[in-house]
Amino acid sequence: MHINIQSAISLKKYNTFGIEEIATNFIEITDPIQLLSAFEEGIFEKDFLTLGGGSNILFTKPYQGYIIKINIRGIQATTLKQDIFITASAGEIWNDLVWYCINNNYNGLENMALIPGTVGASPVQNIGAYGTELMNIFYSCVAFDTLEGVFRIFHNEDCKFSYRDSIFKSEQKGRYIITEVTYKLDTLPSINTTYGAISKELENRNITNPTIRDIAEVVSAIRVEKLPDPSTVGNAGSFFKNPIISLEQYNRLKELFPNIISFTMPNNQIKLAAGWLIEQCEWKGKVVGQAGVWKNQALVLINIHSATGNEIFELSSKIINDVYQKFNVKLEREVNIF
Ligand code: FAD
Ligand code: NAP
Repeated sequence: MHINIQSAISLKKYNTFGIEEIATNFIEITDPIQLLSAFEEGIFEKDFLTLGGGSNILFTKPYQGYIIKINIRGIQATTLKQDIFITASAGEIWNDLVWYCINNNYNGLENMALIPGTVGASPVQNIGAYGTELMNIFYSCVAFDTLEGVFRIFHNEDCKFSYRDSIFKSEQKGRYIITEVTYKLDTLPSINTTYGAISKELENRNITNPTIRDIAEVVSAIRVEKLPDPSTVGNAGSFFKNPIISLEQYNRLKELFPNIISFTMPNNQIKLAAGWLIEQCEWKGKVVGQAGVWKNQALVLINIHSATGNEIFELSSKIINDVYQKFNVKLEREVNIF
C-alpha cells in the first residue's frame, strides 16, 4: 500500500511544547498495512520515531530520520456479559475515547479525562491520573514489530506496566508501533474519588452521589484550572516523574523536612511529590530565557514563547541538580527527549 514521504517538515505543530525543529522525512500512517510497505522499503532500518500527539516529547535538535505520524482511526465496542471490550485505533484522540465511553455508560476511563495525546501512546508510559492508571483497564494491544516486520499481540502482563512505564518506554523502546488498543471496561460503575482534589470539587458542586460523567467533568475542570493549555502555553505536562524511594530514605528526609509530601506505595516504598521538591528549591514560577516553570504546578516546564528544546532541557538539568543537592533525591525526566 502506498506511503507518502514528505521532506523538510516543521515539527512545531506536531509537539505540544511548540518547539520549532525540522524533520528530514515525515510519513503519515492512516492504515496499519502501510507499516508493512514501509518495512519493505527499508524505512525501519534507518532512524525513525513514532509520533502520536507529541504531548510527551521534547525535540532538542532537527530530526534527521523518519517521523512516523500515527493517524489510524476507528473505535469498536464488543459486549461480553458485564464486560465491555473497546478496541480503538492508535490515532484516536484519548480524550475523545474517554467521552465516547462516558456517553455509552462504559466505566473506567473517567478519572483520566483530558489527558492529551493518542490511544496508541496510552500504554507507552501507562498513563495515569487522579488515582487510576491505564494498566487497570488495558486488555491488549496490537503492535507492528519494526525489526521482524510482523504484527504482534501484547496482553496486559506482556507489557510489564509500572508507574509511568512499560516495555514500550524501557526495554523495547522504539521497536514496536502500536496500531490498536483494547480496553476492558465495566458496565457497573465503580466511582473513584480517592484523590483529595476530586472529593473537594464534588463537595463544592454539592454532588454527593457522582456519576462517571460528574467525575470526568470535575477532573477536566481541575485540570483546566491547574495546568497550562498547550494551545496557548507550550508544555508536555509533568516534566519529571514523582520519585519512589525506600522507607529508610523517607524516614531520614522526614526528620529533616517534616512537611514533605508523600504517599505510601506497595512494598514499603514511598512516593514523593516531585512538584513539592521543586517548589522547595524555589523554582516554581521562575523563568530562564525562554524556558520556565509553571506558576501553578512546578512539575510542568513551559515554553514562554520561542524556547529551543535545549533551553527547556538545560532548565530541567538545573532543577534535577538543585533537588539532588537539597534532598539527595534524583528526579527522572518523564518526557521523552529527542
Ligand atoms: P507522543 O508525545 O507523540 O509520544 C510519546 C512517546 O510514545 C514517544 O516515545 C513516542 O515514540 C511513543 N509513541 C507514540 N505513539 C506511539 C504508538 N502508536 N506506538 C508506539 N509508540 C508510540 N500523562 C499522564 O500519564 N497523565 C497525565 O495526567 C498527563 N497530563 C498531561 C497534561 C498536559 C497538559 C500535557 C501536555 C501532557 C500530559 N501527559 C500526561 C503526558 C501525555 O499527554 C501522555 O504521555 C500521552 O499519552 C502522550 O500521548 P501522545 O500521543 O502525545 O504521545
Ligand atoms: P496534585 O493533586 O497536586 O498532587 C501532587 C502529586 O501527589 C501527584 O503527582 C500525585 O501523584 C500525588 N498524589 C496526590 N494525591 C494522591 C493520592 N490520594 N494518592 C496517591 N498519590 C497522590 O497533582 P497534580 O499535578 O494536580 O496532578 C493531578 C493528577 O493528574 C495526578 O495523578 C498526576 O499524575 C496527573 N497529571 C499528570 C501529568 C503528566 O504529564 N504525567 C500532568 C498533569 C497531571 P501521581 O502523579 O502519581 O498521581
